[in-house]
Amino acid sequence: MSNQKDQAAAAPKRERPTILQEGPPGYTGQGFFATSADKVIGMARKNSLWPLPFATSCCGIEFMSLMSSHYDLARFGMERLSFSPRQSDLLMVMGTIAKKMAPVLREVYTQMAEPKWVLSMGACASSGGIFDTYSVLQGIDRVIPVDVYVPGCPPRPEQVIDGIMQIQQLAQNEGLRRRYSKEYEDLLTKYKID
Ligand code: SF4
Repeated sequence: MSNQKDQAAAAPKRERPTILQEGPPGYTGQGFFATSADKVIGMARKNSLWPLPFATSCCGIEFMSLMSSHYDLARFGMERLSFSPRQSDLLMVMGTIAKKMAPVLREVYTQMAEPKWVLSMGACASSGGIFDTYSVLQGIDRVIPVDVYVPGCPPRPEQVIDGIMQIQQLAQNEGLRRRYSKEYEDLLTKYKID
């Protein structure tokens, strides 16, 4: 019996795994932690994007699948689709955009409040797709700036999810001052957007 006790005492003590890392002194404590405004606002923007679906044809059907329970876009904080440009910050363009529709798309984009992002879903929205004709816009980036292109005809929902995660990365890492920068102003000037 005493032999067993001696062995237990001699065995090295196993350390409990650390689950939470301690922050540096002065940055954490009871009831507070310190971070930067860029980081905390970026995190909030990333996880609360409100999409405006601008769907004109078959890619829109693929988007319906994306919103349904199997793929469940709500996991990304996006269950609230907005059909009001003023209350959305992610314009998702899916489908063939006729040249007659281009001014409408542009109007919707300009009505959205900053900060805003644009995802072009599928070959038609990104490049006109197979419709190389007189009536089809050969890519929405001829009238509005695009942040992420998702290829495919139609893209699989997994591809669109990947595109949305890319938008999330942009939203999270964008500095608060980018929208006031000369670079962004030049981009809008290029598109003749005030
Ligand atoms: S990319 Fe293909 S699936 Fe999507 S709108 Fe064009 S033709 Fe339809």
